[in-house]
Amino acid sequence: MSATILDGRAVAATVRNDITQRVAVLAGQGVSVGLATVLVGEDPASAVYVRGKRKLAGLVGIKSFHHELPATVSQEEIETLVRQLNDDPSVDGILVQLPLPDGLDSDRITGIIDPGKDADGLHPYNLGRLVLDRPRLVPCTPRGIMKILDYYEIEIQGAHAVVVGRSFLVGRPVGLLLGARGANATVTLAHSRTKDLAAVTRGADILIVAVGVSHLIGPEYVKPGATVIDVGINRTDDRLVGDVDFDAVVNIAGAITPVPGGVGPMTIAMLMDNTVTAVESRL
Ligand code: NAD
Repeated sequence: MSATILDGRAVAATVRNDITQRVAVLAGQGVSVGLATVLVGEDPASAVYVRGKRKLAGLVGIKSFHHELPATVSQEEIETLVRQLNDDPSVDGILVQLPLPDGLDSDRITGIIDPGKDADGLHPYNLGRLVLDRPRLVPCTPRGIMKILDYYEIEIQGAHAVVVGRSFLVGRPVGLLLGARGANATVTLAHSRTKDLAAVTRGADILIVAVGVSHLIGPEYVKPGATVIDVGINRTDDRLVGDVDFDAVVNIAGAITPVPGGVGPMTIAMLMDNTVTAVESRL
């Protein structure tokens, strides 16, 4: 039997409607919402992502303030810009698109963003709150994954969730969200040094894959009926593919996200959600 397709575009549309309404309520109170995007260098994928984020901001009524800097920009110049955005009352959320060109210290830059304007949820303060199980602004992709699971009423409580990939951007935070009070999964975090990955992932009721290796996960990695969330975005010659061999795994999984059209749209939607949350929690 073929798996249920977890349609990230459909879920993102519901989030978008919710955000539009919240932005309208704020506008009724005389409060506008602003998102600053910072794009450094010429990376084509980053340019596409930032364009998508600005477009969605416009659709939901969030003002967007865009800054483009050349790859030759100095660390000091970016930090000065971020500090200006921190102080700018019309900016409620700040997104510095990662990865930054070589030679720039992205940890330092993330660390000087005002945690209250940290739309990406990657500042150590916000990641720390997640560890404390008192989250405030949560990284966008992990939040988007939780929204998809929630929308499709996938049972998380008591489930064994295996997360493949331990990045601070996706793997670690989604593991924390799945294991948090209220979600209550039992979480295994697998990575490049995990022995016999297939044996580990076959134990998963919920399998989240965030690695960046196309078709790493074939059917022999998946328990029949499991929910599979494919975060990977890999560019092949003519198309985007995930970390999961979708065509093979769709016949064994109970539910699966496609690439594209799965987690990606949710990441952008949650950036807007975080920006509005930043304003609402300040009022
Ligand atoms: P990363 O490179 O920071 O981390 C990759 C992780 O995968 C590492 O923890 C590493 O230990 C693990 N890994 C590498 N090879 C492995 C292997 N053979 N077996 C098991 N684990 C292995 O990557 P990231 O930033 O977390 O991104 C992962 C993927 O998700 C990329 O394809 C990225 O483009 C994509 N991504 C998608 C979205 C989205 O919105 N859909 C958002 C962020 C990242």
